[in-house]
Amino acid sequence: MSTLSIKKLRADIDGKPILKGVDLELKSGEIHALMGPNGSGKSTLANVIMGNPRYTVTGGSIKLDGKDILALPVHERARLGLFLAFQYPVEIPGLGMAKFLRRAAETRLPEGEHLNVSDFLKGARESMDFLSFDRAFLNRALNDGFSGGEKKRAEILQLLTLKPRFAIFDETDSGLDIDALKVVAAGIEKMRGPDFGALIITHYRRILDYAVPSIVHVMYQGRIVLSGGGEIVKSLEEKGYDWVKDLVGDPGDDTEAGPPARTPKPAGREALHA
Ligand code: ADP
Ligand code: MG
Repeated sequence: MSTLSIKKLRADIDGKPILKGVDLELKSGEIHALMGPNGSGKSTLANVIMGNPRYTVTGGSIKLDGKDILALPVHERARLGLFLAFQYPVEIPGLGMAKFLRRAAETRLPEGEHLNVSDFLKGARESMDFLSFDRAFLNRALNDGFSGGEKKRAEILQLLTLKPRFAIFDETDSGLDIDALKVVAAGIEKMRGPDFGALIITHYRRILDYAVPSIVHVMYQGRIVLSGGGEIVKSLEEKGYDWVKDLVGDPGDDTEAGPPARTPKPAGREALHA
């Protein structure tokens, strides 16, 4: 079992503090949801976990199985099994999708091991069939001219190909029609198991009906201010984020302490559908 442990994490972008003490523990076997108003720092958290150099960590720690990963560059974090599905996947003309997937899979292999190309292609094609993603996309350039839904399918194809230990989905569901949404959720569910943990960043209950989280967190002004079960999603849907604001008060700006996050209650599939 693996643990991704984030403690008192603080991060800036261009000198502006965004994360103001984030605590979050994600274990393999668990799927967590992260919600919160626009600008609260969800994408920043995702990027900082992955190691995007645009953000400066100013305090706290991120540990994977006890090992501090903050000093590691992105590709080494990826090799350790971290994965981020982008909110806005980048188009890369000239980089063929098959080649990209293959190289990415190769770099995840232990030193000295080689990829069996025909097995790899077979697996990729099977995943594409599972995602209702036309195999012809393997011959296209990565995300180049893809529709929104195709880009998100491509993200999930990378997920299924790379089989990370921990994956973060940054609004992978936003802007998808219901069929694409189900496919994305099915991809996440396919990975669910004792060796996989996920953090699903979303604004909507829809995806959480298909990829059901055990814990739901709410981020507000750079902190996780509330954690619990599916009842949180329901309350947000009914009352909006003003409810969170009223509940936690204004966390203010940059104080070290901030309001304590509510204790997570054990919650399962039932809680979300309660
Ligand atoms: P969320 O994903 O919750 O909507 P973000 O993490 O994207 O929030 O943004 C948090 C804050 O950081 C916002 O105020 C946003 O304007 C700011 N921010 C994010 N990225 C940048 C950037 N590249 N340059 C300047 N400010 C940024
Ligand atoms: Mg975002």
